[in-house]
Amino acid sequence: MKHVIIVGGGAAGMTAAIMAARHGARVTVIERMQRVGKKLLATGNGRCNLSNRRLDASRYHGRRPGFVAGVFARFGLEDTLDFFGALGVEFMEENEGRLFPVSQQASSVLDVLRYEMTRLGVAEVCDTIVQTVTSKHGKLRCVCGNEQTFEGDRVIVCAGGKSSPNLGSNGGGYKIAQALGHAIVEPFPALVQLKLDAPWLKRIAGISVPGSAHAWIDDNLRRTETGEILFTEYGVSGTAILSLSRTISESMLQGRSAQVRIDLFPALTPGELTALLQRRCAHAPFKPIDFSFVGLLHKRLIQAALQSAGIQDVQRPCGELSSDEIARIAATLKAWTFPATGTQSWMFSQVTAGGVDVDELDPATLQSRLAPGVYFAGEVIDIDGDSGGYNLQWAWSSGAVAGICAAS
Ligand SMILES: Cc1cc2nc3c(=O)[nH]c(=O)nc-3n(C[C@H](O)[C@H](O)[C@H](O)COP(=O)(O)OP(=O)(O)OC[C@H]3O[C@@H](n4cnc5c(N)ncnc54)[C@H](O)[C@@H]3O)c2cc1C
Repeated sequence: MKHVIIVGGGAAGMTAAIMAARHGARVTVIERMQRVGKKLLATGNGRCNLSNRRLDASRYHGRRPGFVAGVFARFGLEDTLDFFGALGVEFMEENEGRLFPVSQQASSVLDVLRYEMTRLGVAEVCDTIVQTVTSKHGKLRCVCGNEQTFEGDRVIVCAGGKSSPNLGSNGGGYKIAQALGHAIVEPFPALVQLKLDAPWLKRIAGISVPGSAHAWIDDNLRRTETGEILFTEYGVSGTAILSLSRTISESMLQGRSAQVRIDLFPALTPGELTALLQRRCAHAPFKPIDFSFVGLLHKRLIQAALQSAGIQDVQRPCGELSSDEIARIAATLKAWTFPATGTQSWMFSQVTAGGVDVDELDPATLQSRLAPGVYFAGEVIDIDGDSGGYNLQWAWSSGAVAGICAAS
């Protein structure tokens, strides 16, 4: 019987453990935190957006995102739904194909995974940090921080990326991979809040609006996302921004100039918005300019938007606004432009882009091409997905494939 050691008891590690045990291996999971699955509890705001009906390779990124196709061909969405269905999880679908457990509890997903690991006799060794994986006399040895060593026939490294280190993943997996000779594509935070440069951010912090956010890199439009935009003291957050953040984060890493342009009226063309503002001014020309926007814009956004459009005296009657000034205000509301100055830190990012270079992994098995018997799965690999359940799906699928192949 093969002994498979799994480094990291996150989403990928637990799936790998179950699959390896189901395929006849003796399995040990080594986890640096006090218990496995801590990050899983925080996913989907505690509800666990565990996959997405619209699963497609185009939702993934990295130096070679097409790498996911082979893994999903072997263990895809239907396999994942069958896997969790058999463990007792019922699914409900929300907007844009997002899948959640009907219980609406991430803890229930963790509970069924742990129940199955226990049923299969998987050993859990917690509070233990694997530092290196070495090979000796045909065996693989995991050397841990507390001077403990574990010997096995196969090792699957599922140590995650660098995001949210308080939940366990702190980049330790990259060190293990590098010591085995693997190249690491430079990691950077994805699905993360953005820092912007604007003098009035403090005044509008806390306001959340629906809208579209555009990433402009070196004056070229690179990505558009629609959804919630939350202004904060340092910049912006919200679903649209998190989805946009990878593009901004990567460009800044490359030393390119990045801007976020916010469209507060995505349903209207610039011409339609200009006409709407003209009608409002003509209807009540005596109202002060700032008050003429009440009912159209969030009240705390009005001053900042007018200032940004270069309107100085906002107490003038709005009937005095020239057509040029109205067009300028409409242009600001359609493309409110903020230079990006950075991202929030690793502590706040949900996902890590970059990681173990896929060129050095066998796409059919996820086995290292450099260190026979060592496999990689989950976020530690240079693959990251869009927001919406795609990252957990990658963890389940890659964990399952590595687990099956390591045990076989
Ligand atoms: C707040 C938050 C919300 C999220 N929500 C969602 C969501 O709803 N849907 C979605 O698809 N994705 C979501 N994600 C992303 C998703 O959680 C991750 O992509 C996924 O958990 C990655 O799984 P993994 O097993 O590869 O890594 P992780 O889940 O990070 O697990 C890695 C494990 O390895 C352990 N470890 C690390 N180094 C060592 C070592 N040297 N020795 C021993 N153990 C080690 C860590 O403690 C950790 O338990 C969210 C992330 C965060 C932070």
